[in-house]
Amino acid sequence: MFSKILIANRGEIALRILRACKELGIRTVAVHSTADEDAMHVRLADESVCIGPPVARDSYLNIPQILAACEITGADAVHPGYGFLSENARFAEILEAHGITFIGPTSEHIRVMGDKIQAKTTAIELGIPVVPGSDGGITPEDDVHAIAAEIGYPVLVKAAAGGGGRGMKVAPTAEDLDLAISTARSESKAAFGDDALYMEKYLGKPRHIEVQVLGDGQGNAIHLGERDCSLQRRHQKVFEECPSPALNEEQRQNIGEICAVAMRKLKYRGAGTIEFLYENGEFYFIEMNTRLQVEHPVTEMVTGIDLVIEQIRIAAGANLSINQEDVRFTGHAIECRINAEHPLTFAPSPGTITYYHPPGGLGVRVDSGVYQGYKVPPHYDSLIGKLIVHGRSRVECMMRLRRALSEFVVDGINTTVPLFTELLDNQDIANGAYDIHWLEKFLEAHI
Ligand code: ADP
Repeated sequence: MFSKILIANRGEIALRILRACKELGIRTVAVHSTADEDAMHVRLADESVCIGPPVARDSYLNIPQILAACEITGADAVHPGYGFLSENARFAEILEAHGITFIGPTSEHIRVMGDKIQAKTTAIELGIPVVPGSDGGITPEDDVHAIAAEIGYPVLVKAAAGGGGRGMKVAPTAEDLDLAISTARSESKAAFGDDALYMEKYLGKPRHIEVQVLGDGQGNAIHLGERDCSLQRRHQKVFEECPSPALNEEQRQNIGEICAVAMRKLKYRGAGTIEFLYENGEFYFIEMNTRLQVEHPVTEMVTGIDLVIEQIRIAAGANLSINQEDVRFTGHAIECRINAEHPLTFAPSPGTITYYHPPGGLGVRVDSGVYQGYKVPPHYDSLIGKLIVHGRSRVECMMRLRRALSEFVVDGINTTVPLFTELLDNQDIANGAYDIHWLEKFLEAHI
């Protein structure tokens, strides 16, 4: 087992990883920018190293600084969390070249899945159903109109390097295609330095359902069920639940098994998420994330399995500690993302938290690094915490969630807490009857 893990992240996820390390008796190193000197993960870690100024490019994305912090502190492994360097194949390679373990999959798997065109081709080879679309990428030489006509309108133009919903444009008809392609191309070039594009069928009313997987890199892999992340704003998830209200037991087992078999074939190592759109009873692969996800606690609450501890064990060379038959799904869990944002406009709201009281009680979990007097810096993403609630049934879970939200006090800044209170009063949410467009329509009607 590792003796010291460096956590190359910040915020709630840095604290989440720190907790797993503590339980395993592993010493921790926090790295932080000058804007995060007072962060909770920095206070609780055994050691901390300042790695640069607030701008992420110069600190949390600064590979030489993080490597130097590993060497100074003698860390033998790095957990990248999510975002920042978590899906950077070069970072994984550089660490390995220095004899430091990257807690995650092989750099090759990160690279393949990081390119959405390659990821889709790989998914097809592994027997995973995909969204119908162009065969690989589209180049300026291709007859894009013929390809789009064959797929059938509306089509979605997507960036191979895409992430966070950027570089994605819908073309409702043939007249819109050229503009959609040129906009997606320039957006992708600007955001990712890569303008490779592909095209797929634009699904009208899908749900976003993803499957959590774990592999040991030796050909053993299991699935830990699904998460329904259909409540989104600008392609960003806001509220996630497990199990999905849209699936029955047979569908759940089928898609889970397809993913587990694929991961065995790939000899995948570590935790990963296979994302699908789901419409009219069919699953369509959109991408695979080769890292821990923000919404992973939903799965932990329902399975009782600590995903970060599993990631660390696997990275240290251990076998999977559980077989597929041992995975038990119990009850229902929902996660609400608490952002420092206006609850309806989502305008960022950095600043000092003047009063803070998180909810508690049976089945209530709050993953957050904030505290009373904490200053939310303006430099990073606005997620300040996650409220995750578990109940024996969906009804009990929603009851408990409503109660937990009513206890949650975060004064001094705007947060998304009031949005969730409103959502819980909505009949569609109560019925689980929502798709990926539902939240945007709801917000439009309320602003
Ligand atoms: P990103 O990596 O930028 O998040 P994804 O491929 O994961 O991109 O897609 C993000 C979201 O965009 C999905 O959850 C869904 O809401 C929407 N989306 C992606 N592909 C399609 C599609 N073919 N049809 C309709 N919506 C889509």
